[in-house]
Amino acid sequence: MTQQKQVILQKVRDSRTHPTADEVYEMARQSLPRISLGTVYRNLDSLSRDGLIRTLEGSGPRRYDGDLEKHCHVRCKLCSYIRDTVPVVEISLEEASQSFDGFMVTDYHIEFVGMCGECRERLNAERTL
Ligand SMILES: [Zn+2]
Ligand SMILES: [Zn+2]
Repeated sequence: MTQQKQVILQKVRDSRTHPTADEVYEMARQSLPRISLGTVYRNLDSLSRDGLIRTLEGSGPRRYDGDLEKHCHVRCKLCSYIRDTVPVVEISLEEASQSFDGFMVTDYHIEFVGMCGECRERLNAERTL
C-alpha cells in the first residue's frame, strides 16, 4: 500500500462524518499537501474495491465510511446530514436469497431517508414568515 493510500484510509477511518471525496481530499491535504483530487478519487475507489472502506450510494453525493461493522444510516434529503443508526433492521441473507428466484444475496444496505431536525425547523420557520 502506498503512503498516500495509507493516509486516505486513516482519514476515512478517523472520520465519523461519512465524508465525500472532496472532504477526504481536504483532510488528506493536511498530511500530504501535494496530493491531487484525482489521486484521492483513485485511492478511494481502490480501498472500496479492497473492502477496506464502504461506499455509500444513494441520494446526494457518494460518501465513504471507514466503519465496516453492519450498520444503517439516516440521510437528510435537503442537506448533507448523514449519520449512523443503531441497526434497527436485521435481515437474514439466506431468507432474503430465498425470496429472489435463483439470486444469492451477499449483502444489503439500509438508508433511512428524510428530513433532519434542522431542516424541519428551517422549513417551519419559513412557513410562518
Ligand atoms: Zn437536513
Ligand atoms: Zn456509517
